[in-house]
Order: sequence, then C-alpha cells, then structure tokens
Amino acid sequence: MNFGGWLSLTARLALALAIGLALGLIVGAPWAAVAVVLAICLALQLLHLLHLLRWLQADQTELAPELPGPWGQLVAMIVRLYRRKQFHKQRLLRLLRELRRSTAAMPDGVVVLNPQAEILWFNRTAARLLGFRGKTDFGLRIENLVRQPEFVRYLRSGQFATPVIVRSAAGSQFLSLQIVPYGAGQLLTLVRDVTREARLEAMRKDFVANASHELRSPLTVISGYLETLATDGEFDPALAGPLQEMQRQAQRMTSIVQDLIELSRLESSDSQAAYQPIDVVALMALLRQDVLARPQHPAQVQLRADSNALLLGEDIQIHSAFSNLVDNAAKYTPADGSVAIRWWTDDDGGHFSVTDTGIGIAPEHIPRLTERFYRVDAGRSRATGGSGLGLAIVKHVLQRHGAQLSIDSQEGRGSTFTCHFPPERLQAAENVVDTAATAVTAS
Ligand code: ADP
Repeated sequence: MNFGGWLSLTARLALALAIGLALGLIVGAPWAAVAVVLAICLALQLLHLLHLLRWLQADQTELAPELPGPWGQLVAMIVRLYRRKQFHKQRLLRLLRELRRSTAAMPDGVVVLNPQAEILWFNRTAARLLGFRGKTDFGLRIENLVRQPEFVRYLRSGQFATPVIVRSAAGSQFLSLQIVPYGAGQLLTLVRDVTREARLEAMRKDFVANASHELRSPLTVISGYLETLATDGEFDPALAGPLQEMQRQAQRMTSIVQDLIELSRLESSDSQAAYQPIDVVALMALLRQDVLARPQHPAQVQLRADSNALLLGEDIQIHSAFSNLVDNAAKYTPADGSVAIRWWTDDDGGHFSVTDTGIGIAPEHIPRLTERFYRVDAGRSRATGGSGLGLAIVKHVLQRHGAQLSIDSQEGRGSTFTCHFPPERLQAAENVVDTAATAVTAS
C-alpha cells in the first residue's frame, strides 16, 4: 500500500490549518478560522467522493476521474480490479465459445439435460439425429421428443453403464444413446449413429442362424447312417473304432449346431422373457436325475430348496440355462466329487446356484467364460463333448429375464455359478404354509 498520498494529504491539511490559525490569530478569531478551514477540507473530500460515485455509476472505466491523494489511489485500484475481472471474463467466454464450437463440430450428438431430464442445450448432430428443432425444444423433457419405449425405460431405470440402441423416429437409422451423469444431477446424453454396425450385426446373426439351420439336415442324415452302420451286424469289426469316433464327432457337431440355433433364437428377440410360473424345486429334481443318468457323474448330487417360490420366466429357456450349469458342474467334477444345487429367495430376489467340487477355474478366465466358444482348456472341453456355447446361452437367457450370473471359483477346489433373479420374477407358491418344511436334501 502506498502511504505517499496519505502523507501529502496530512501535510496539506496541517498547512491549511496552520495558515487558518495564523490568519485567525491576526483577526482575533483563531477557532472560527480553524473551523472554516476544516469545513473547506471536508467539502473538498465530499466533492472527490461525489466524483468517485458518479464515475462508478456511469460504469465507464476508461473515463476514470483524476483525483488527488488517496482518492487517486482508490480509483487506480478499482480500475486494476475491473481490468483483471474483464480479462478473466474474456478468457472464460473465449473458452466457452471454443467448447461450444468443438462440441457443435463433433460427429457425435450431445444433449445436456437438467436433473428433471429437461433439455438445456444440444449440438447440431444431436438435432439432426434426433430431429430437434433448435431453441423451441429447449426446456422440454427429452422423453417428449425421444419417445422410443426402450429409451424411456432406460432413462427411468437410472442404470446408465451401457448405451441403449433405438431406431430413429423415421425408422431408417439405428441410434446408440448413452446417458452420462455429471455435476449436481445433470445428465449428458451422447448420441451416435450406429446404423452400419447394427446392419453388420444383423447380417452376422442372420448368417449364423441360416448356416446352423442349413447344417442341421445333412448332420441328421449323417448321424442316421452312422447309427445304422453301427447296428449293422455285418459291418467290418476293424472299422468299429473309427465308426465310433465318427459318431462321437457327429454328436458333437449336432450339439454345437443346436446351441448355435438356440443362441440365434435368443438373440433374435430383444423383448423381455415371458412371465410363466416355473416350479424351480421340481425342476431341480429333474436336473438331478439328468446328472445321475450320465454314464459318468459325481458321486453326490445334493438339492437344497430354502424357498418354494415360483420363478416367473420362460420355461424352456430357464430349463436350458439351469441344465447348462448343472451339466458343466457334472462334466468338470470327478466321480468322487459332489454337486450341490440350491434355490433360495431374499429381499434381493431369487437365487439359483450350482456348486461343485471339481477342477475350478483360474481367476483370469472368469470374466471371459460367457464369451462364445471360450474354453479354459479346449482339449478337455472337447473331450467332455462341450460346445463352448453353454455359458453364452446362460448369459443370454438371464439377460432376457433381467437376471445376473455370478461366478465364484478356485482352481483345483471347485466353482459356484449363481443366477440372481430380481424380485419381480418371483411369485409365492400357493398352498404352502412353511417354506422351511419344503427344503429338500437328497444325495
Ligand atoms: P463347454 O461346452 O465347453 O462346457 P461352456 O460355455 O459351458 O462351454 O463353458 C465354458 C468354459 O468354462 C468351459 O470350457 C470350461 O472350461 C469352463 N467351465 C464352465 N463350467 C465350469 C465348471 N463348473 N468347472 C470348471 N470349469 C467350468
């Protein structure tokens, strides 16, 4: 802080007072003269203050008044502060403009929403892809403009980890919409045109579905002839070994083709699975019989039902998913091991688990198990007749039921595969008083 101004002001005041006092002494009224000098000084200061106020009110920084002493310093400080503020403001404005220009030029659409999902801003690509009409759409709720049911469901679900794919309003394009929450409940919606990817994916699905259907008939014929040859008493016994191997491979191909057809069927429909009541406890008993009917199976297959609630889903699909899990447990568990199948319910929903004491899975393989044809040990999987598609089917079936698969495993000790169904997929069984009484344990 500069004290020069204050010193000169004080010196000037002292000089004026001294002159006033001297003149007062000459005319014989010293105090009156001092009072007059003080009044003049005060009037001068008030005048400077008035100047300052006028200048501030006029909001014209460039026309700063030239005031003496501390008033001048005050003006200089105000001008400095104002310039600094202007500098930062300009910089922010420039940044904002650049940001807007870059988002406007982005190939992806961007829509900014407030916590009530009302549109605050969108770029040109979003307007083109979603058919927004400029400023008139600001302030409207996004679901009034993007009405596709999949998107409305997605917006209301609050689960934004993955994008949702919808058809454009005109129906000619496929759009991927992903919501990214940020700040205080604000939502950023990213829009991408994924028509090309969607068409390629559709072509891939069609190709797999058609190829598997086309392969089914010749395979049935080959298997039929192999069967006939195997039962033909006059067939050369030296060829019995190769014939058996051919039958085994034909059987493997048939199961791959069947699994591919099932996967294609699951993929071809995006809709949620139906809500048919399924008696899980009865299904568990059937699954146990299937395991025990295998030529080689673990010594013990235990059932434990802690609930008799019915599962609401698609019967055939649930049967296929559960039997894939039980089948795997039986395949990858030695004869002296055991398999436990469990069904229970709690506040989170219904849970179906299959635990085995088999070979287990190393942690690095677990995240990839549900990929098609992914096998930890391809040789072993082939030897057990596995298609590598079982868990992919399980994942798809569960997805259609709004359920999740969790996998817990320790190499060499065993694995637990659990399907978690949401509460809306459960229905209390009728005519049952005590759920604990229905718990079954069999071995
Ligand atoms: P596969 O028909 O080969 O069994 P899946 O998709 O059902 O195909 O399983 C994928 C892979 O996961 C299997 O090849 C196997 O390596 C591993 N796997 C699945 N279930 C188990 C299990 N209960 N114990 C050990 N490994 C398993």
